[in-house]
Amino acid sequence: MYFIKKVILLVPISLIAIGCSSLDKTNNATPTPQKPAHSSDTQPQEQLKEMVKEMLHDNQKFVSSHQESYFDVFKNKETPRATVVACADSRFHTHSIDQTPDNDIFFVRNIGNQLATAEGSIEYGVEHLKTPLLMFIGHTACGAVKAASSDFSTLSEPIKSELHHLQLVKKKQVSDDELHANVIQNVHNQVAKAMVKFKDKVKSGEVKIIGAVYDFKNAFGKGHGKLVLVNVNNEKSEDSIKAFKEYILKK
Ligand SMILES: [Zn+2]
Repeated sequence: MYFIKKVILLVPISLIAIGCSSLDKTNNATPTPQKPAHSSDTQPQEQLKEMVKEMLHDNQKFVSSHQESYFDVFKNKETPRATVVACADSRFHTHSIDQTPDNDIFFVRNIGNQLATAEGSIEYGVEHLKTPLLMFIGHTACGAVKAASSDFSTLSEPIKSELHHLQLVKKKQVSDDELHANVIQNVHNQVAKAMVKFKDKVKSGEVKIIGAVYDFKNAFGKGHGKLVLVNVNNEKSEDSIKAFKEYILKK
């Protein structure tokens, strides 16, 4: 279990270090992604070399800017406040929702932000680390949801076995609107499954299960990159989400 904890803790740290490297903290100008998108004129070997080089460089910056005391608080024990299950999609990272995720987010990722293929990890966060929040975060334009919304029988067995758990209605063609609706539906499905699994903890108030969508396409019209809450303990109506947000913001 130590290995799982170590990997899950370390991966976000390294990704945050990379992802934040382009942010200019001295002004509020919109940052641009530092890394160029894949392009056909960039050879895979060059991409690999650049990527690892930048990882090591960014990590060294992280090491240089963090004193030993920074790690003292959690070097012997992790005490996260949230178990977060997100899609593995590269377009979502914790820096968009938590500027200081170290020792704060027990982060579980897989294709389709699902419970079924990461049940042990999620259970560890909720039952052993006792995070009071379990959150499922889907995202706009999710490739896993899109694949699971149509015929995926030609994919490999390992990928099929993960998509299979998403259990979405399949169509021959999936429009952008239908994909958006299924991204939300998938989040609802994952919250519903977690509500069954952790029903005693939800009932006692020890855990709240929240579903959200990270919207980098502004499909909700609330801003690019907005985290949109869509489900709180299986409550999905706008009124109940609004009431929850008011409760959260209330002093
Ligand atoms: Zn996805």
